[in-house]
Amino acid sequence: MPQAQDSPRGSPCCFQAVHQSRDREGAGQVSRMPQAEPSPYRIRLAKLRKRLEEGRLEGLLVTSLPNVHYLTGFSGTAGILWVTLRDSFLLTDPRYDLQAHEQVQESRVVIVSGDALVAVVKRMNRSRLSRVGFEGGAVSFLTQKRIRELLPKKRLVATDGWVETLRIEKDEGEIEQIRRAVDLASRAYSETLPLLRPGITEIEVAAEIEYRMRRYGAERPSFETIVAFGARTAFPHARAGTRPLQAGECILLDLGAILNGYASDMTRTVFLGKPTPKAARVYHAVLEAQQEGEAAVKAGVECAAVDRATRKVLERYGYGRYFTHGTGHGVGREIHELPRLGKKQRTPLPERAVVTVEPGVYIPGFGGVRIEDIVVVRKEGAEVLTRTPKELTVL
Ligand code: ZN
Ligand code: ZN
Repeated sequence: MPQAQDSPRGSPCCFQAVHQSRDREGAGQVSRMPQAEPSPYRIRLAKLRKRLEEGRLEGLLVTSLPNVHYLTGFSGTAGILWVTLRDSFLLTDPRYDLQAHEQVQESRVVIVSGDALVAVVKRMNRSRLSRVGFEGGAVSFLTQKRIRELLPKKRLVATDGWVETLRIEKDEGEIEQIRRAVDLASRAYSETLPLLRPGITEIEVAAEIEYRMRRYGAERPSFETIVAFGARTAFPHARAGTRPLQAGECILLDLGAILNGYASDMTRTVFLGKPTPKAARVYHAVLEAQQEGEAAVKAGVECAAVDRATRKVLERYGYGRYFTHGTGHGVGREIHELPRLGKKQRTPLPERAVVTVEPGVYIPGFGGVRIEDIVVVRKEGAEVLTRTPKELTVL
């Protein structure tokens, strides 16, 4: 859907020119579009400013690219966002001049030929702001040192996860993008299944999946597609290799697509020929755990409660010690986002968080089973986005 209002545009020429146009432009927005629905970027910046006020900061330097993308719409690979309580500026280099002016909403675009960090720090230095923050997790030790040297008179605060926390609760537009990324990956998966015949290698299967995802419009896979056959399925993050598929083997496929900047993530485990009774038992245990996990998802419940629900089932089957990772993770602009659905996560699941539910059992020397869906956290429970069947599939 097109944006409801004009986005502020800064001059691409130099930082100073943009600065001078600030007040005039801000006033114009209000009078032009009094009835317009605020854009998601305006809402996100407002939430961040509230967070700044709570943390008694007057500005935040946003250097994590997924966070810059989330707050501005800019998808380039080089950009720094400087947000104060009143303004926000995206600084990027001339390669992204056109793209930034097309994509950025609610922030002014500043094109800098030299070092964007130096340009933004100069701007910070000129301002009267005294207490400003930077993203501690996204700035290297050396860069932090450089910023502190360039800003000797400012009180600099390293923040941790401020924008990432805002990103947990999606808006319906974001959920729709994730739903489309989920459907795209599911289609690539379903169309690849008939190719799983003896002799095909793990790498070939990964290539077939990724080729289809790209053909259907994916920008790229969300991560390196995981394809494992036989005993290699016991490696939760197996890397596809040259091993050929053999009759009677278990096949684990973990894949995702990025579409319009949003990621999807799904895992299915299938069998080429009838599984052994032990393999079938493991499969049914994981399926039951996965379904119990989804049943536990609801706005307000602790993240750890979802993990407990899956773990309890696997323990009952005697497979507890073979479940070696958390139950799930948030998904959005990145494949692994907050919240984490792990044993120790006491935070409540907010409404409209998008998370995976993916228990697995990995028995060394035997093999592994994982089943993974993406769900939206709703007041009444989980809305499952992944529509691919989960019953035991024998090819
Ligand atoms: Zn996955
Ligand atoms: Zn996952």
